[in-house]
Amino acid sequence: MREIAFVNGTVILPDRLLERGVVRCVGDRITYVGQSAKLPQRVEVVDAKGGYISPGFIDLHVHGGAGADFMDGTPQAVHQACCAHLRHGTTTIFPTSTTGTPEELHAFLHACAQVQQADVPGLPTIPGVHLYGPYFAPDKVGCHSQAGRRSPTPQEFKTYFATGLIRIATCAAELPGADAFYKAAQRAGCLITCGHSNASWSEMARAFKLGMRHVDHFWCAMSSVPALRQRLGTPMQGSMAEFVLMHPEMSTEVIADGQHLAPELLEFAFRMLGPGRLCLVTDCNRALDMPPGEYRFGPADTGSLFENTGAVGCTADGSLASSVQGMDHMVREMSRSTTATLPEVVRMASLTPAERTGIDEDTGSLTVGKRADLLVLSPRLRVRQVYSRGVAADFKTLACASGDVYNC
Ligand SMILES: [Zn+2]
Ligand SMILES: [Zn+2]
Repeated sequence: MREIAFVNGTVILPDRLLERGVVRCVGDRITYVGQSAKLPQRVEVVDAKGGYISPGFIDLHVHGGAGADFMDGTPQAVHQACCAHLRHGTTTIFPTSTTGTPEELHAFLHACAQVQQADVPGLPTIPGVHLYGPYFAPDKVGCHSQAGRRSPTPQEFKTYFATGLIRIATCAAELPGADAFYKAAQRAGCLITCGHSNASWSEMARAFKLGMRHVDHFWCAMSSVPALRQRLGTPMQGSMAEFVLMHPEMSTEVIADGQHLAPELLEFAFRMLGPGRLCLVTDCNRALDMPPGEYRFGPADTGSLFENTGAVGCTADGSLASSVQGMDHMVREMSRSTTATLPEVVRMASLTPAERTGIDEDTGSLTVGKRADLLVLSPRLRVRQVYSRGVAADFKTLACASGDVYNC
């Protein structure tokens, strides 16, 4: 089997940096992490040229890229979006749904399954999908299409869980039907999350009993003490934010694109939660690596319109419509804006999301036995090379593949 040695770089481990480190891989697995200068013969050497050797990134919450949204519902679109995020260092991806009709959600699930099964060498691994929309609170739909929002019913969601594809499941805790949804998600072994929600403390506590352990994009489209005062009056009540901060079993995520949250909020989230409970996500839409202009968020023909300013997505009323950046940008921004060390920042983009979704035995860190998902980063944290399951990403052939692999 093919053996690769990554040399001449600083290896990023979950708890420290390893200077002048060496990582060796055989086939799709990591076989050595250390500082040995001795390399076996016939090994292919990848020179990090004084940069970093990092685990591949894991994105729990991502909608699209390079012009494609996962909700476009074709394998070509899924492939294209995966390929776009690979360039930015994501080697494990959970395609994320928006609000939409049941038909659109089934097309999303089917397209993701086709790409997962095609197993194109070098593409990011899809361990499963994030069923995000459509079960949002009516007053917290954000940039998603309002028409595609509804409350969960078992008749509908059991057809989604029946695909066996869902690994992350979001539902606003205050919706009628949320309890049954959480129970089904727990049976399916999902990371259960509450998002696009104006849930009160007691609604969160009830969801927690049913297995809810994560909250989507902290501070965005979620309840706050003032919002709950408006909804429920006095005495003022604890919100999703306080619930997450007070329960060590809970995790959350931040969109660290520098546009959604100011540096002090990124620092606050990091200091309050630590690198083991905070994930970096891109929440990136189809405008990644695309020129400024108007795009649709969600399905190609029914999704809501937004403007890509070149820095972020914006809706017509001036609110934010998710990010237009890849995970490498989030890692750079978090490093620049907070006191988190580089191992801590990279952990939030790799091992922590792996742990939260139960895939950390297979990926998420540079550890012997785990998947050979590696990045070579420049000293300024730009992505130079990407290896997914031991295969070097060749963006030219990967881009070409999107047309013919799925023959449809
Ligand atoms: Zn959202
Ligand atoms: Zn989102």
